[in-house]
Amino acid sequence: MTLHLSSISAALLADLQAARPLMWTNPHRSAEADVQTVVDGRRISLADMRAAQARFARFAPLLARLFPELEASAGRIESDLLGAPGMQQALGLPTRHGSLWIKADHSLPIAGSIKARGGIHEVLEFAEALALRHGLVDVDGDYRVLADAPARALFGRYQVAVGSTGNLGLSIGVMASALGFRAAVHMSADAKAWKKTRLRARGVEVVEHTGDYAAAVAAGRREAEGDPYSYFVDDERSLSLLLGYSAAALHLHDQFEAAGLRVDADHPLFVYLPCGVGGAPAGIAFGLWQLYGPHVHACFVEPTQSPCFLVEMLAPGASVYDVGLTNRTEADGLAVPRASELAAEAMGPLLAGVCTVPDERLFLDLHRVRESEGLRIEPSAAAGFSGPRMLTDSAAGRAYLARHGLDAVMPQATHLVWTTGGLFVPPDEYARFAERGAALTSPTPAESPPA
Ligand SMILES: *Cc1c(COP(=O)(O)O)cnc(C)c1O
Repeated sequence: MTLHLSSISAALLADLQAARPLMWTNPHRSAEADVQTVVDGRRISLADMRAAQARFARFAPLLARLFPELEASAGRIESDLLGAPGMQQALGLPTRHGSLWIKADHSLPIAGSIKARGGIHEVLEFAEALALRHGLVDVDGDYRVLADAPARALFGRYQVAVGSTGNLGLSIGVMASALGFRAAVHMSADAKAWKKTRLRARGVEVVEHTGDYAAAVAAGRREAEGDPYSYFVDDERSLSLLLGYSAAALHLHDQFEAAGLRVDADHPLFVYLPCGVGGAPAGIAFGLWQLYGPHVHACFVEPTQSPCFLVEMLAPGASVYDVGLTNRTEADGLAVPRASELAAEAMGPLLAGVCTVPDERLFLDLHRVRESEGLRIEPSAAAGFSGPRMLTDSAAGRAYLARHGLDAVMPQATHLVWTTGGLFVPPDEYARFAERGAALTSPTPAESPPA
């Protein structure tokens, strides 16, 4: 493969290679609302996002029956939209630049992360297709029959497999095994031990790999190939995952209305999405674009050592290793060396930009959001908090705001940080993260005033 690293500007490449936090904005972003999104040769639109939402709704009664924690929401898997004035102050984001909000996917039930959206959707889509094909249910029927013996016998003949750094495995593994599938999760070396333990406790087969995330996916894909009773969820090229994530936009729209938040030319929406392979943030950015067009500005945020989506936008086909980075980060959900080409294809004309963030900053913001808003998130989920200041303070961010004529409307802007995981982090592990962040807030010796 020929890599065109030479097409990256020297200054940007130097920042990337030195793992300096940076902001890049997308010169190919469309100004038109009506952008055709084509992935893998297929056009996707609002109708596909609604179809994913409708699938979740059909399954809701069944999910409420399978998972006690979904009883209160009648089977709906959703998270809160939270105002975050305390965190806005902690971040030093002046109100003349708008207001800070949080989309609390760190509290999503079942998976404990944003993967509850895409991962669960794909398992449901697979189960539904099987059940329909075998005449076990009608699309307008009561899906609770899928908890009964005939459906479980059918599902039990199939294996659902996935490669994961942890969180996708949790969502796919837990949902697949709850429906009665055999479930296998191929874990990369960076996956946290507690995630493996949690899966094994639910009867999921965990296959450990010594390689990175891409290697775990490849191993899973290989093993499932040629087995008609094995279904592989392919995070690097799955449309079902992407559409499952996109449905978040429809619920968010209702939450905005309820909160009195508008999104239009005078009220721009900036959304900051932690990015691994790119499927989750791309699905959500695609979904929001269907509702708000160019009034939504989607910024992906990646660790400085794993900016695979940015690398893919700059040099298609390249990995973070190709630019000399390590892919080593404590943000296990984002430790991905190569982006999903499908996600990158979808984002070409829609993405506002990408910011990168060093690990220390993740711990600092994890600590700050606990202190200011009482929220308990994992390191990956803290990535978005770097976004607003990057946008308003960096040269690239300011140029973006000027180019899109946004300076005058910034006081009415909404900055939405998507906190993508954390619910199931064990208390001792979380305490270590928080301590690490707290230590960063005390002045270092070099900064202390002379005695
Ligand atoms: C997976 C994950 C993401 C990013 O999703 P991708 O589809 O890999 O881009 C963000 N945050 C957390 C906590 C995740 O687990």
